[in-house]
Amino acid sequence: CGIFGYAGFRIAAPVLVEGLKRLEYRGYDSFGIATLAEKISIYKKAGKVSAVSNLPDSLQGTLGISHTRWATHGIPSDINAHPHLDCNEEIAVVHNGIIENYAGLKRDLIERGHIFRSETDTEVIAHLIEEAYSDDLLHAVKSVLPLLTGSYAILVISAGEERIIAARNQSPLVLGIGDGEIFAASDITPLLEYTSRVIYLDDGDIADIRPGEYTIYNGDSPIEKTISEITWTQD
Ligand code: GLU
Repeated sequence: CGIFGYAGFRIAAPVLVEGLKRLEYRGYDSFGIATLAEKISIYKKAGKVSAVSNLPDSLQGTLGISHTRWATHGIPSDINAHPHLDCNEEIAVVHNGIIENYAGLKRDLIERGHIFRSETDTEVIAHLIEEAYSDDLLHAVKSVLPLLTGSYAILVISAGEERIIAARNQSPLVLGIGDGEIFAASDITPLLEYTSRVIYLDDGDIADIRPGEYTIYNGDSPIEKTISEITWTQD
C-alpha cells in the first residue's frame, strides 16, 4: 500500500498514476486518485493501476492525491477504495494505516447526521475534517488529528484551497522538493524521476504543501527539517 501526492505545474492525474505504478511493489488490492480544479474529481477502483488505459477527462488540475489500498477495514471494492470524501464532496482523504478508534467516532458522526458511503476506518477522517473546516484546511486537520488513535500517513485536499495537508503517525511519509513542484509519498521510489531532494517526515509532523512551496509543523510552530540529497551510484 502507498500514497502519492503532487502540487505543481504538471497535469496531476498522469503524474499520480505513474507514481502509483512505482509504488505497486508494496502490494495493494485497489487504487484511486483525486485531483483538484474548480472541484474535486475522483477516480477509484478495485484492481490494478496497470489496467488503467485512459483516465476520465474530469480529472483536471495540477494538484492531487492518490493511493494504493491494502484493505484492513471493509472488503476490497470500488466504494471502499480511497480517496474518501466528506458529505459535501469538498474534502478528500487518502490514508495508509489503521484508525483503531474509528467505530466510536463513526457512531458519533452518524448520530450527528453524517452519511457514510464506505465500510472503511478511513472515512471518519473526511467527516471529522468536514466538521472542523471553515476556510483553513491546515487548521481543520490539526484539530482532528488528536481525535485519532492508531497509525496513519494521510494526504488531504479541500475544494476551496490549492494545497495538500500531509500528516503521519507510525506510517512512513516523505516529501520530494522539486523546482516549482512538491511531492509527498510513502517512500522515495516515485519521487526520484523528478527530484533527488527529499525530507523524511517524523511522527507528529504536519506538512502544508502548495505548488512549489511547503511548511512543516510539529505542534503549533513551523519547524526546519533537513533536506536529504539522494545519490545513486551505478556499478
Ligand atoms: N485502513 C484503511 C483501509 O482499510 C487503509 C489501508 C491501507 O493502508 O491501505 O481502507
